[in-house]
Amino acid sequence: MGPRKRGDRLRQSAARPEEIRLWAPWRYAYVRRAIAGPKVCIFCFARLNEAERLERLVLYENRYAAVMLNRYPYINGHIMIAPRRHLASPELLSANERAVIDELIAASVKLMRAELKPDGFNLGANLGRAAGAGFADHMHWHIVPRWDGDGNFISVLASTRVLSQSLEDSFKQLRPLFKTVGADLS
Ligand SMILES: [Zn+2]
Repeated sequence: MGPRKRGDRLRQSAARPEEIRLWAPWRYAYVRRAIAGPKVCIFCFARLNEAERLERLVLYENRYAAVMLNRYPYINGHIMIAPRRHLASPELLSANERAVIDELIAASVKLMRAELKPDGFNLGANLGRAAGAGFADHMHWHIVPRWDGDGNFISVLASTRVLSQSLEDSFKQLRPLFKTVGADLS
């Protein structure tokens, strides 16, 4: 065996799934939960007080749709927008729901662009488990802010994300912004 090179240790870790848990404990929790099957839908909820809002990471809601932080984010500021009704696919939504979600996507990008100053965004939805949806029965859009250089080698090799901000801090940073989202949307 020759001298150890930079990256040897990372390659070894990436090859052994049991070590990936240590690298990304929140992803392990997510995978474990996905295997067990979600017991309750995270996108279905009734009226929230402010404590419940933080607990559920809900940044904004009206009668058609809600915006929330992803508990298992790919990066800081990873949010999701879902209709309030428990529906699996966009063609099932009403025209009102689609219009409100469209507005919320635009408003969310605008607010996060100003506050987080990302270099780009990924927008998208996974429809069905085969497409990677964790909660396949209740459709939701992902909005993921991206910064130049955030796709570093750790993410690529070990399915691990490096987050520099806690979810609670993200919530406290973004929640006030979403209080400004239009009354015309409710
Ligand atoms: Zn639901």
